[in-house]
Amino acid sequence: MTQRILVIGAGFAGTWSALASARLLDMAGRTDVEIVLVAPEPHLHIRPRLYEKNPGGMKAPLQKLFDTVGVQFIQGRVAHIDVEHRMVTIADIDADAPHGAISYDRLVLAAGSRLFSPPIPGLQAHAFNVDQIADAMALEAHLADLASRPASPGRNTVVVAGAGFTGIETAAEMPSRLREILGENTDVRVVMVERNDAVGPDLGPGPRPIITQALTELGVTWKLGSGVASVDERGVTLENGERIDADTVIWTAGARANTLTAQIPAERDAFGRLLVDANLKVLGLDEVYATGDCARAATDDAGNPTMMACQHAISLGRSAGHNVAADLLGEAPIPYHQPKYVTCLDLGPWGAVYTEGWDRQVVLTGAQAKKLKSEINSVWIYPPSDATRAQALASADPRQAVVA
Ligand SMILES: Cc1cc2nc3c(=O)[nH]c(=O)nc-3n(C[C@H](O)[C@H](O)[C@H](O)COP(=O)(O)OP(=O)(O)OC[C@H]3O[C@@H](n4cnc5c(N)ncnc54)[C@H](O)[C@@H]3O)c2cc1C
Repeated sequence: MTQRILVIGAGFAGTWSALASARLLDMAGRTDVEIVLVAPEPHLHIRPRLYEKNPGGMKAPLQKLFDTVGVQFIQGRVAHIDVEHRMVTIADIDADAPHGAISYDRLVLAAGSRLFSPPIPGLQAHAFNVDQIADAMALEAHLADLASRPASPGRNTVVVAGAGFTGIETAAEMPSRLREILGENTDVRVVMVERNDAVGPDLGPGPRPIITQALTELGVTWKLGSGVASVDERGVTLENGERIDADTVIWTAGARANTLTAQIPAERDAFGRLLVDANLKVLGLDEVYATGDCARAATDDAGNPTMMACQHAISLGRSAGHNVAADLLGEAPIPYHQPKYVTCLDLGPWGAVYTEGWDRQVVLTGAQAKKLKSEINSVWIYPPSDATRAQALASADPRQAVVA
């Protein structure tokens, strides 16, 4: 009887999970296991590039790749997971009404993450973000529209809420984007607002001098130690009462795992990620694997946990896909192990900074690091959309390293 691996999500983790399962089935010569992937569309959204221009084009096609390796794609949005009965309910992309159900023998939850939006007054109504393609397109349309507004300090000001990884990359991009839209000689202002006492609070002291130098040279300023208290059409008010007039507010502070993780009866971390073992099986469950931004795994023997990042999502995907298939076939799993950790932070026209290790030792800066960042963002993290079957399967080998 045919058994089924069901993968939820066609992001970095889901795509590479499906490919890695297909690879092991191919190597084992097994045709009695089917791989089904459910997602809203057969495209990989390149979320790490959504702070760049033209976000509408930041996606890569997947249908041909899935056909090439024999992954069945179902278009839809998973609404409900019934772990007890091994069933998943699928809804239309834009509606909550269920339109189908599908059973599984093994489940891989790879539904990613979403920007965390706390209940700050006015945030939902007035702030933009770069979390999903539609969000980034709304920001781009708004920025273009600024040119039609009368000149004012607020029109010329962008507030970026959050000075973490995404906040810094977004802010570094903004001065040149604003000048392109409003005129090269316009006095533009880009301000990062960060509740913590440092720029890049989670990036540590290693790359900070480079980051602050780059932001300063780009004309970005920052306000530390006070978060955003409220947002309105004309700007933000900080927790310390300070007012910043800005027609554009971009919220970047934090991500949470997809809410589907809450439907799995298992332990989750503070970000909503499911705790998984070394084979990426959810702790306490026999038939459910979690991967990418939905999973919290140890990357190394010291226990450094995975980050919500492509670097980990791609490797986690390959491991989950391999191990879920190995589980069904009775083959040995390959435990997830990714001791090398790097970061490559885009600093707009200034360049980038590349670090290695969990203490983020700076290895490359400026144009050299930018070259690496461009390669990561435009080549390395893209799926092998036009690959042959052999190339596509080889790309999912769980033993290869990923840098992103
Ligand atoms: C602006 C920005 C910049 C970033 N920069 C970097 C960077 O420089 N380096 C880095 O490593 N990482 C970066 N990241 C993080 C990185 O994008 C994520 O860690 C990565 O996308 C996680 O991959 P994933 O496959 O787990 O989830 P996702 O890429 O979020 O994919 C989730 C998939 O699940 C699907 N899905 C969601 N809900 C459902 C449902 N109910 N039913 C079915 N399918 C569903 C989605 O449509 C999607 O196909 C950045 C993220 C953002 C937003």
